Amino acid sequence: MSTIKCDVLVVGAGPIGTVFSYIAAKNGADVLTVDRKNEIAAPLRGGEAVSKFLFESMYEEIPVLKNVYRWPINETIIYNPISKITSREDKWISLMLNRKEVEKNLAQQAINAGAQLSLGTTVHDASFVGENIKEVKAKTIKGDLIIHPKIVVGADGATSFIRKQVIKNNNIEGIKDWGCAIEIEAANLNLDFPNTMQLFMGEIMGGYGYIFPKGNDRADVGVGARPYYGKNPLKYKSPIELFYDLSEKNKEMKRQLKDSSPLEIKGGIIDLSYPLDFVHGNTILVGDSANQNFSYVGEGIIPGWQAAIIAGKTVAVSIEKNDLNLLKNYPKEYEDSFIGTEGRKTVKIKDNISSIISKDLDIDVKTILISMLELEIIDWDGKELENALKYKKSEELLDYARKLIDEKDLKIEINPR
Ligand SMILES: Cc1cc2nc3c(=O)[nH]c(=O)nc-3n(C[C@H](O)[C@H](O)[C@H](O)COP(=O)(O)OP(=O)(O)OC[C@H]3O[C@@H](n4cnc5c(N)ncnc54)[C@H](O)[C@@H]3O)c2cc1C
Repeated sequence: MSTIKCDVLVVGAGPIGTVFSYIAAKNGADVLTVDRKNEIAAPLRGGEAVSKFLFESMYEEIPVLKNVYRWPINETIIYNPISKITSREDKWISLMLNRKEVEKNLAQQAINAGAQLSLGTTVHDASFVGENIKEVKAKTIKGDLIIHPKIVVGADGATSFIRKQVIKNNNIEGIKDWGCAIEIEAANLNLDFPNTMQLFMGEIMGGYGYIFPKGNDRADVGVGARPYYGKNPLKYKSPIELFYDLSEKNKEMKRQLKDSSPLEIKGGIIDLSYPLDFVHGNTILVGDSANQNFSYVGEGIIPGWQAAIIAGKTVAVSIEKNDLNLLKNYPKEYEDSFIGTEGRKTVKIKDNISSIISKDLDIDVKTILISMLELEIIDWDGKELENALKYKKSEELLDYARKLIDEKDLKIEINPR
């Protein structure tokens, strides 16, 4: 058994833990980053879509992102049973990444900045003195390891071990609302549009099927669903069953996937709750462990990076000044940032979508309402929702959607399916 000390122990070398480690090490902290995986980003836990303008806004703090592979997505189509709605609004102009390449580059940057990375290292115990974690135990390929950190960073994802420890201590709640997704990186698709994200709504209540092209004749295809909305959860199908059902029943998906073959199958839980408290004594949470995501689409990479940049700098200053109180600046700065503010708005959009899903409405009307909320034809605070709910026929509701699009001058068009 060996024992080591460090300023900062980062549990989790996913996309967020590695960015945190890079920023903290670059700013002078002595960082040890551990991950239970034997290889960075393998198995990969999530998808690869990011908003283009937000991704590019990260270049200044994470310059390595400028050099990674990215495939341009110029528009997003949401298919409903009777219409297709195409958005070319900034938020729906995206990039598809090769996440394995991105995450390995981020880890390399962290190492170059001075962080120590230890793979095959599973954290399984934490002991507290008061509200501070004083000792962390891990199993490694070389045997048991005891770590004495000044600060602990839980970057260990949606099922965070570190979060469980601070929850136990502080009796706060964890995940309240969640979805899960199964995603297949597939090759040899017959894509209708190589630079368009396609979402298929209507067949799956509380979720959708999707095709996100990533160039080189590949796409991430999958199903994101919220099992919570099954009337009888025990009868509800798993995402993989939903995916195979949908790729048979949905004519656009079936045609495009007919000759395809999976290269990789990935999936997992997606936390859709409101962000948690990020600071507990000498421990902070960042990324999925802190529920930092764009809740209505379950995208966590950009919000997590924004939080990791702020947290990395805050932690480095806290170490330098030997003042744990400074950690409290991190949540405030994140909440005040553009991305933190957007994150809060997306929780509201998701809650409005949930309220529609649970209403007894015609299925076509329901999916159009959900698309209107998702694409923000109805404002994020839902102020036009009451009015929209007056339209009981799908054609009338689509006309109302067109009226809002005109009034707001949105780059969105509605066509028959
Ligand atoms: C199917 C799917 C599709 C998604 N699609 C998108 C998308 O298109 N765009 C987007 O922005 N987001 C997407 N997401 C969400 C995105 O994947 C997450 O927000 C992101 O991975 C969060 O990064 P993280 O570093 O916080 O956590 P993770 O990526 O989960 O990384 C946590 C790391 O901690 C390690 N770890 C956990 N416990 C321990 C322990 N006890 N000891 C040591 N190490 C530990 C894990 O091995 C892992 O490497 C998707 C998620 C899923 C499941």
